Amino acid sequence: MTSLVSSLRAALGESAVLTDPADMAAYVTDWTGSFTGTALAVVRPASTEQVATVVRLCAAAGVGVVPQGGNTGLVGGGVPDSGGDQIVLSLGRMRRVREVDPVADTLVAEAGAALATVQDAAAAAGRLFPLSLGSEGSCTIGGTIATNAGGTAVLRYGMMRELVLGLEVVLPDGRVWDGLRPLRKDNTGYDLKQLFIGSEGTLGVVTAAVLRLLPATPRRATAVVALESVEAATSLLPLIREHGGGQLTTWELLGRQAVDLVLAHLPGVRDPFADRHEWYGLVELAGTSADVDERLESALEAATSQGLLVDAVVAGSPAQRDSLWALREGVSEAQKSEGATLKHDVTLPITTLSRFVADVGPRLLEALPGLRLVTYGHVGDGNLHYNISAPVGSDAALKRDAPALTRIVYDAVTALGGSISAEHGIGALKRDAAAAYKSGVEVDLLRAVKQAIDPGGVMNPRKVLV
Ligand code: FAD
Repeated sequence: MTSLVSSLRAALGESAVLTDPADMAAYVTDWTGSFTGTALAVVRPASTEQVATVVRLCAAAGVGVVPQGGNTGLVGGGVPDSGGDQIVLSLGRMRRVREVDPVADTLVAEAGAALATVQDAAAAAGRLFPLSLGSEGSCTIGGTIATNAGGTAVLRYGMMRELVLGLEVVLPDGRVWDGLRPLRKDNTGYDLKQLFIGSEGTLGVVTAAVLRLLPATPRRATAVVALESVEAATSLLPLIREHGGGQLTTWELLGRQAVDLVLAHLPGVRDPFADRHEWYGLVELAGTSADVDERLESALEAATSQGLLVDAVVAGSPAQRDSLWALREGVSEAQKSEGATLKHDVTLPITTLSRFVADVGPRLLEALPGLRLVTYGHVGDGNLHYNISAPVGSDAALKRDAPALTRIVYDAVTALGGSISAEHGIGALKRDAAAAYKSGVEVDLLRAVKQAIDPGGVMNPRKVLV
């Protein structure tokens, strides 16, 4: 492999190819710390042409290419495994916002641009790029496309899939597919860009994208509400949607354990309520006028009179809004500080969420007494982060029982018509489970797509598909 590294250095320059283990360390371990692999090199191209050269050289050498953006993925998809036959291709140097067009309502960004950079560029032009995630300061446009990211505004704007108009992709043989078109209508056969969106780096390297912009929503009305049950949270959705008049953007849920972890680990975050409540909901309406405040008030009044709410705190200032959001956005970080974690990012038909939580919790606690159910997520989308923290001081027990616990969760999700991955993807973490829980027909179709586009298995080997 010395000759591949030499060729990469000759093509890209010495400083674009890292081989020192200390320099590569941050690229071979994922955000959760659960996935660590080995790489022959970490390559940092600065242009689409350089990405194409890297992929071509790797394909010729029979070396796999693992694309990496911000490395905030939660399923081990963006880091190499221990096979020793891969390089990491970091898009970190390709981070320009190339163009913002407020007339066409589009923005063109390179794959390595941080999501927050794109949001800021849209805002500077008086527009909105609505994708919003806790990791938005670090995750990239390429990564959010490759994972079809969701987040806290999907209820109103959809997932990344709905926000992409065009893509530029380096294919596994090094050719460049120029689909960087801003067209809203283009019925010329299969929608190729949609194949790459959500493919987690297994079909090609996204190098740039044309994104949809939307009208800015400078007025936001935000509240945290106290609820007695998950059923109250799902029953509230149609009510706040009706009162929201199309301006409902966020409906999130937090279970008690999730709230307690944030309060314990994130300094400065406070409980908005004096009393303890089992479930908290975070609701946000966004628009252009004070209308949003009135609509939120009327939704909360109606919910209270119907007995769906126990208490509510409405943000009276931007600082208060930030502190309510900190409670929700802090859960991933807080859980990381609390020992071993088993993450389940699942989605269910929304009317079954309450049954799922009521049935599965006791079965998990029976299987491993003392485990802590850290339940939160995008309840308005039917998406729960149904995470488990180890019993205090028993990380080893959680690791030992992880397969059995996950089986309980995935069996229940599948029986209720849900999916074992809502928004984080499959990566390495759920690769075997996806093969087991999908139908044979689905698995065959997925393999046929991979075989058609990447017959040599160059792109992100051993991820997504067995
Ligand atoms: P990486 O982690 O670098 O890579 C993720 C996958 O995409 C890998 O398979 C990688 O190979 C592939 N990839 C990356 N770049 C490219 C490219 N240019 N071309 C082809 N393939 C590529 N996710 C949500 O959906 N919703 C949330 O609300 C959410 N909240 C989060 C909160 C926190 C605190 C954290 C840490 C993560 C959260 N995530 C969430 C997960 C993560 O941020 C997203 O999956 C994000 O889209 C990953 O982007 P990235 O640039 O970090 O990608």
